[in-house]
Amino acid sequence: MSIPTIDGAFPGERVTGYDVTARRDTDYYAVFADIPAADREIWDRAKAYVDELGDRMAAAWDAAEYPIEVAMRLGELDLFNDGIAHPSLTPFSPLAAGLVNMEVSRGDGSLGTVVAVQGGLALRTLALFGSPEQQERWLEPVARGRVPGAFALTEPDHGSDSVSLETVARRDGGDWVLRGAKKWIGNGASGGITFVWARVDDPDAAEHGAVRCFLVEQDTPGYRGAVITGKASLRGIHQAHIELDDVRVPASAVLPGTKSFKDASTVLYSTRSGVAWSALGHATACFEAALSYAQQRVQFGRPLAKFQMVQERLSQMLDELTTMQLYCRRMADLETAGRLQPTQASLAKYHNTRAARRVAQTARDLLGGNGILLENRVMQHMADIEAIHTYEGTESVQALLIGRDITGMSAFA
Ligand SMILES: Cc1cc2nc3c(=O)[nH]c(=O)nc-3n(C[C@H](O)[C@H](O)[C@H](O)COP(=O)(O)OP(=O)(O)OC[C@H]3O[C@@H](n4cnc5c(N)ncnc54)[C@H](O)[C@@H]3O)c2cc1C
Repeated sequence: MSIPTIDGAFPGERVTGYDVTARRDTDYYAVFADIPAADREIWDRAKAYVDELGDRMAAAWDAAEYPIEVAMRLGELDLFNDGIAHPSLTPFSPLAAGLVNMEVSRGDGSLGTVVAVQGGLALRTLALFGSPEQQERWLEPVARGRVPGAFALTEPDHGSDSVSLETVARRDGGDWVLRGAKKWIGNGASGGITFVWARVDDPDAAEHGAVRCFLVEQDTPGYRGAVITGKASLRGIHQAHIELDDVRVPASAVLPGTKSFKDASTVLYSTRSGVAWSALGHATACFEAALSYAQQRVQFGRPLAKFQMVQERLSQMLDELTTMQLYCRRMADLETAGRLQPTQASLAKYHNTRAARRVAQTARDLLGGNGILLENRVMQHMADIEAIHTYEGTESVQALLIGRDITGMSAFA
């Protein structure tokens, strides 16, 4: 670690910058020391790609641009699998999936969200519920990043209560006609395919009122996806506001495995653990930036790291980080053993996004004024954590799910 200095500068401006983005691989409790070689190989592949990116995603974040070719390269590197078990996909353990989520988010939160959307949501929906023909046509292109995939559940009027979604799928002859609106849909205006969750409107059928999922190609007439602008978080990926204006799709567009809203929930339960890992990645980046800065920045004639209060704050951050790591590792072990309960994933998400917020806030403060400079990326992580704190179920919604489990009483309206 070197501190850039200039000789002959004006008094008081000798230090020109600080190296705070270098990877330190913090693992104080050796939580990841004994991971299987296959998982380490996948993790190393993710690390290598993040390192290769350099400032590319930082520039995209600053400019609020979505470099989709950079994102889809994760598929070329076979990093979208997200732990989905399917004969056509490369085997990928829950631990490997978590490490990819963590590592990519440590590098860049927008790319972390691409992994969650393309792999966690879109690919998982297709692999769990798609027909053999749908899987034959789309599984490989989505897994390999040749076709962007989107998962459209949330509506402008229904976020936490997406169970009340109003988008309808009406039978018309042999076709389905979709009408409604969706909001916040990652990859929803990227020229790929969208898995649209809609309520069946077919009064003569037993499934009338049931929620099912439809595979919609984004160039289908009536599908209008507009990129949401003005985001202060995850600025290197696009989310879309979608209008479905009588979008006609064939009967074969319905995913036969989807029968009710529970199927959408199944996908969300699985991806919730990925968010806990992403939060860990963000927190790792923030802790390491704070530690590096404290070792380099000199005030009162010595590095910040030599002050007792600074050491106390670094210790607090490490404590939070280690707890997050332990949650993640244990969660992966439980999932591997087939024993992970949905509310355990909720608790991990609940803990980790809250802890990541605290770590980011302390890191920002320890960097002083330099903490608000985008070039040091702490502020970017801090902003990105806000989005993952909200998506896949907010903090309050996780608390309601956990609360229902431990009390046996539902506090949902
Ligand atoms: C960056 C980003 C990406 C996203 N990507 C996708 C995507 O790809 N696909 C998709 O379908 N959706 C996506 N979402 C949507 C996301 O899942 C929703 O934003 C989330 O479920 C919360 O819904 P909401 O924003 O409408 O907030 P609201 O539901 O309106 O909640 C607002 C506040 O009220 C609180 N609240 C709500 N209900 C209760 C209650 N019963 N008790 C106590 N407090 C309550 C919430 O906790 C929150 O603090 C994304 C969102 C963001 C921000």
